[in-house]
Amino acid sequence: MRKMGLVYDPIYLEHDTGSHPENFRRLEYILEALDDYGIRDKMVEIGPQTASVDQAAMFHGPAYIEKVAAFARQGGGYLDPDTVVSSNSCEAALMAAGGVITAVDSVIGGAVDSAFALVRPPGHHAKADRSMGFCLFNNVVIGAMHAMNTHGIERILIVDWDVHHGNGTAEAFYSDPAVLYFSTHQQGIFPNTGFASETGSGAGEGYTINVPLNRWTGDSGQYIAFTQILEPVARQFKPQLVMVSAGFDAHYADPLAGLEMTCRGYAQMAEIVKRIAEAECGGRIVAALEGGYNLDVVGHAVSAVVNVFGEYGVEAAEPGGAERRFEKPVMRIPIDEAIKIQKKYWKL
Ligand SMILES: [Zn+2]
Repeated sequence: MRKMGLVYDPIYLEHDTGSHPENFRRLEYILEALDDYGIRDKMVEIGPQTASVDQAAMFHGPAYIEKVAAFARQGGGYLDPDTVVSSNSCEAALMAAGGVITAVDSVIGGAVDSAFALVRPPGHHAKADRSMGFCLFNNVVIGAMHAMNTHGIERILIVDWDVHHGNGTAEAFYSDPAVLYFSTHQQGIFPNTGFASETGSGAGEGYTINVPLNRWTGDSGQYIAFTQILEPVARQFKPQLVMVSAGFDAHYADPLAGLEMTCRGYAQMAEIVKRIAEAECGGRIVAALEGGYNLDVVGHAVSAVVNVFGEYGVEAAEPGGAERRFEKPVMRIPIDEAIKIQKKYWKL
């Protein structure tokens, strides 16, 4: 068993989005599942510190931060066509970014081996000066910048397995060779970025890896992308910290996409990430919740991942049963295309 932190604060429930798919019930279901599996008791509960405006401003423009704060103060509404803000949303969002900062501090400080930040609103679509796709502040970007600025971390691997491309995160580090951004995502859906040909720019060229996947790619395609691209690249990059934008909307029962993964597939990705972290940086993993909108699934999928990172020895159930899967056996074409492109930068 490894010492794993669970970063959580009830303020995350107060980002009130009504009947929006990204709502507070997601966290309630996840906490309940962690309890039911007996995992939560074994985790080290870590209360987050809020991110200061200065910390959020490592990435976001001060005018944008004030815009979110003012919009929330006035009662909120839709800040963009997808993103809802309520009166406590700015406080929750700063605490979400602060949650990842706290997770980074706990892992780098050695209080825990790894940590899962059970935060919302999510972050990976948030850009420096605008909200997007349910995201207000980019939690993982702010956490990564904190790790570099405060702890002197020089190389961070960010693995983004949310079904959507983390365009805000990709953009933040597009020309920065200190952060290797690896994303698998379903192609042709929101936000319609993350083509394999987007590989970084300037000094950061080669440090952005996009593996767009076809609908129905399923666990087997993710496994190929993770073992044939992510793992060999990570072993050459040698990260000092591994961060995960852990979205669970690639599950077959998720209403927002169709990548057809299972909880077992999530556990498999987690195994590979853990193997990388153990080989390169003493197992230091900071994962943060992004998407995942089927309430009957998300708790099981999170538990499957946490179970791997923490070595808790439980098997997460597969809600809905395997018969609902439509995984196609051969969906390699876009993966092979990404391999071909990345061979320019890495030994694959
Ligand atoms: Zn997503």
